[in-house]
Amino acid sequence: MRKPIVAGNWKMNKTVAEAQALVADIKRDLAECSGVDVVVCPPFTALAAVSEAITGSQLDLGAQNMHWEGSGAYTGEIAPPMLRELFCHYVILGHSERREYAGETDAIVNKKLKAALAANLRPIVCVGEQLADRDAGRTEAVVEQQLRGSLANCSAREWTDVVVAYEPVWAIGTGRTATPDQAQEVHAFIRSVIRDLADDSIAQTVRIQYGGSMKPANAAELISQPDIDGGLIGGAALDAASFVAIVQAAL
Ligand code: PEP
Repeated sequence: MRKPIVAGNWKMNKTVAEAQALVADIKRDLAECSGVDVVVCPPFTALAAVSEAITGSQLDLGAQNMHWEGSGAYTGEIAPPMLRELFCHYVILGHSERREYAGETDAIVNKKLKAALAANLRPIVCVGEQLADRDAGRTEAVVEQQLRGSLANCSAREWTDVVVAYEPVWAIGTGRTATPDQAQEVHAFIRSVIRDLADDSIAQTVRIQYGGSMKPANAAELISQPDIDGGLIGGAALDAASFVAIVQAAL
């Protein structure tokens, strides 16, 4: 049995004060949620405050990105030990917005993945096709290439900490969600690629989240698919009631 995982990606939203208010509401409403791993991923500037706010709760902390080096002359970057110091346990890697706006390639994502695992951070590795890929029948080819590049060279021990997020780019922030059947088909395919990269027992344990306009109205049907193990939530994670409702759907 894979424990569902729901993560909120707050992106470049929320000042420290706003982040504190949002996480206070989530924490209050999710006092009992041991059946789901719940992760909040605020911007770097709010990590310390949110970390303090969730101490002793069921909520876990994640970052939205990091550099692969432990320290050094990388202006504007954040290193894995800096995240660990704030009690971050997860880090989103290779989000499509990082791939598009910051030029992140699969090779870069793989370097970050290895650095995250070495620092005891659990990577949430994002993959997903553009609309043109889907229309051209290239969804599986694109996703497979991203998986093989981003997840190369993981040991069996490392795989236990990896989370994959399938996020069709055409569904992110657009209000257009993959149907449960469309999403399930790609999730099953992702699991088959993991089987090939690792082995069957690892493939059965790696959690694969769906992301792309997930909201309370569609979460239950998506998450009830056999290979969908939770959600990576963008817009709906900025509203406590919506995020909590999605977590409850996963329960
Ligand atoms: C995301 O960016 O990870 C995401 C899923 O966004 P949204 O839920 O807004 O589509």
